[in-house]
Amino acid sequence: MSETKKAVSAVEWDLSDLYASPDDPRIEQDIELLIQRAKAFESTYKGKIDCLALTAGTLGDSIREYDSIARDASKLDAYASLRFAADTSDPARGALLQRTMEKITEITLPLLFFDLEIAKADNSIIEGLLADPCIAPHQHYIRTARLLRPFQLSEIEERLLQETSNTGIKAFRRLFEEVTSRMTFDVDSEGLTQSQVLALLYSPDREKRRTAAAALSEGLGQHANTIAFIFNTVLQDKSVNDRLRHYKYPEQSRHLSNELDREIVDIVIETCTSNYSVVKRYYSKKREVLGLPQLTHFDRYAPLFSSEDACSWDAARDIVLESFGEFSPVMRSAASEFFDKNWIDAAPRKGKRGGAFCHYVTPDLHPFILQSFLGRNKDITTLAHELGHGVHSYLSRGQTYLNFHGTLPMAELASTFGEMLVFDKLQKRASAKERLALYADKIEGSFATIFRQAAMFRFEQAIHKHRRECGELTVDDYGRYWQDNIQEMFGDSVILGDEHRLWWAYVNHFIASPFYVYAYCVGELLVLSLYQKYREDGARFADRYMDVLRAGGSLAPQELMSKLGVTLHDPEFWRGGVAILEREVSEFESLWAEYKAG
Ligand SMILES: [Zn+2]
Repeated sequence: MSETKKAVSAVEWDLSDLYASPDDPRIEQDIELLIQRAKAFESTYKGKIDCLALTAGTLGDSIREYDSIARDASKLDAYASLRFAADTSDPARGALLQRTMEKITEITLPLLFFDLEIAKADNSIIEGLLADPCIAPHQHYIRTARLLRPFQLSEIEERLLQETSNTGIKAFRRLFEEVTSRMTFDVDSEGLTQSQVLALLYSPDREKRRTAAAALSEGLGQHANTIAFIFNTVLQDKSVNDRLRHYKYPEQSRHLSNELDREIVDIVIETCTSNYSVVKRYYSKKREVLGLPQLTHFDRYAPLFSSEDACSWDAARDIVLESFGEFSPVMRSAASEFFDKNWIDAAPRKGKRGGAFCHYVTPDLHPFILQSFLGRNKDITTLAHELGHGVHSYLSRGQTYLNFHGTLPMAELASTFGEMLVFDKLQKRASAKERLALYADKIEGSFATIFRQAAMFRFEQAIHKHRRECGELTVDDYGRYWQDNIQEMFGDSVILGDEHRLWWAYVNHFIASPFYVYAYCVGELLVLSLYQKYREDGARFADRYMDVLRAGGSLAPQELMSKLGVTLHDPEFWRGGVAILEREVSEFESLWAEYKAG
């Protein structure tokens, strides 16, 4: 055990490829230079893009300079935010981050006109330039910016909306964050934060889970009227905005930014909601494993068993690299660099940010990964997840900065795939008991990302519709839509108690970015469906998949998937993902039968 800690405690990242230290004079030089470049960009190109005399040369030069300013500014951001994430308790790191953000705003402001002008420029002129060889690498960026064209208002109207939003919708979003982050939840006369109380729902002790659930509802209940007021305001703000911009239905703006059409999203959601039976099957079996007469809202995340053996950092690295290597040698060698060149910070430390992430940084550098590795199976899958992201961004480094990041539903393309590969490996070498726990984790994780988000999307559709057709909603209205949609997912396998009626009230996505939730659902089901295709096509699939990763965000989702012979409009493709989940649940059922008998 101490061996594990010793080894992993030395796993810290080396940020010197960004800057040598917080006192590195290059930081100040880069800030000054970028401010000058941004100002020069504005004076050179403002009014020249949305202009009848626009040439391919001007458009090409401007995009390349824009790309380069954005890329270099993001290195400053990466350095300050990565240092802060490594130790959030150090005030100097917080101050550097705050200062960097302010400077980046200063760099960004003079650039704001650019996207607007690209969107507004005359159609026949832009279409004529798109075929020019110097514009070709930027086609996707230009086309995406121009998708918003029919929904943009005049510059004066846009500015008015922008400026008044700080005391309007943005103020309500901030109020929501303030209200929810200041809430305390009373557990055994101790005031817990939201994340602390939610963590207790994973406790093996049922009484602890029951107490936590009651405290969560009690805490939310005290602010329910305020939160319902904020929700009503957000719904109405969206309704007004959609009307002014001539969006035809509430989800339309989200579909545009995700570069997905309505038909695809509807097929995915329909595939999920018509297969809720798999959720019911799993939880019925989980109830049996836990030996409870009935499962309720605070039993969903209950672990099957209370402890497991810890895995060393070296062993975890070997498992991940082996699994990646069996899929593709390219994936393995890309992932190896992260270990060999110190791009990972895995040491658990006080003050380090919670959770895990992979920061893509820029195409001319390399990504960084942060996690706190404690040797549990879920730490190994987290490592696989983040390394999947890492390999994705590493392979996309041939792209320009603006083509580097994919859309939201494509963001988990390699991470979830990496998890699948490692899961297959882990479960093959595990004992019967460990396999049961592994399957439970895997299935519950997928359910939370796929079916739960689909149910939440349905809830969101219902409340937006209600606000538009019947006016404001009461706390009870929200509770009814919430309970109905989530209960439908479980069937009779989990009976949600009345306390659960308030649990819509802490979901930040509903406030911060309406209809965000479906991207999780589309993204994860997409990867499961692709994994199914990999099982059918084998090595041939792996090579083409690597090509998709190399394309980064240079193509729209459907264009990327065409490289794999996938049509996102085909319901059968999405059924493949559900088939994987069904097989996992069957496997869980037979593992339990064996375990019980043995
Ligand atoms: Zn991820």
